[in-house]
Amino acid sequence: MENKFHELAGRLRCPDDYAALRFTALAATCTQCARVYPVQHGALLELLPSRPVDLPASHDPEYVAEYRRAFLQRFDMREDRMSWGAPEISAPRWIKKRERQVQAVRAALVGIGEVQRAGVLCDISAGAGYYTFGLARNFQHVLHCDLSVASLAYAIRKAARLRIDNVLFLRLDYFRMPFVQSLERILCFDTLIRGESHEELLLRQIRGALTPAGSAIVDFHNWWHSPARRMGLLPQNFANNRSYSRAEAESLLRRCGIERCAFRPFYQEFELTSSWRRALSRLIPPARLMFEFPGSSPPPVQPVVDDSKCLVAP
Ligand SMILES: [Zn+2]
Repeated sequence: MENKFHELAGRLRCPDDYAALRFTALAATCTQCARVYPVQHGALLELLPSRPVDLPASHDPEYVAEYRRAFLQRFDMREDRMSWGAPEISAPRWIKKRERQVQAVRAALVGIGEVQRAGVLCDISAGAGYYTFGLARNFQHVLHCDLSVASLAYAIRKAARLRIDNVLFLRLDYFRMPFVQSLERILCFDTLIRGESHEELLLRQIRGALTPAGSAIVDFHNWWHSPARRMGLLPQNFANNRSYSRAEAESLLRRCGIERCAFRPFYQEFELTSSWRRALSRLIPPARLMFEFPGSSPPPVQPVVDDSKCLVAP
């Protein structure tokens, strides 16, 4: 059986020690610690560190408990696995907003020259695959990354159904990613919503995964974009998730060493196709604050998590 990850071997590392991996037909093996990572179902590689990361106390305890549960769950392909936000279980209006943001990201990638079927695109928290499936034809390889067993099982089934064969599935922990300055294009959406300490850890990992010439596009949510919500006429519907103003998001990016970034506002309710809509966009904050930023210059910023604080897995 062909190991589809072979062509990406130079981009992937052992998440425990960041050493190179040696690929055979059925597995990847760390050249330093000899840990073996088998390829599953012909398309999935689990490159998880040996133990979950011990997150700082500033993280939401509920989030930490859910993270540990997700990390320790064994992978399976149960037929009823369903990703959060999958079109099969989402409202058409909500799906349309996601698809419109995919179009906006495609336009941004076209703007930086990514229009041919070349290169590798990596979505760090790919979920139901709106971006990985939507942009697959624009890239030679797409890495669909997630920790969630349900999301990965759903996406693997969907790729087979759609006969998309250039999307490869990585189960990873985004607090300790198996990349060291080896990716040109990274996406991360609907994920920088857990609080500043979470966002800071993740942004530093993304920056460390980018080649110096690479770039990432990420988004922050701003639920104050609705005038009715700002006036108290709509309930706060964002649960415990974190909403950011543009200034707050930019301050957070700077704390992660990201001094240069391009701001790409995304208005999910309407397109800027007329003069009155463009005028409206000057009055209403965008629902999604998208930023594009470059990789860091050498030396690499990895690793950013203190190994000695890792939890002991059962
Ligand atoms: Zn290793």
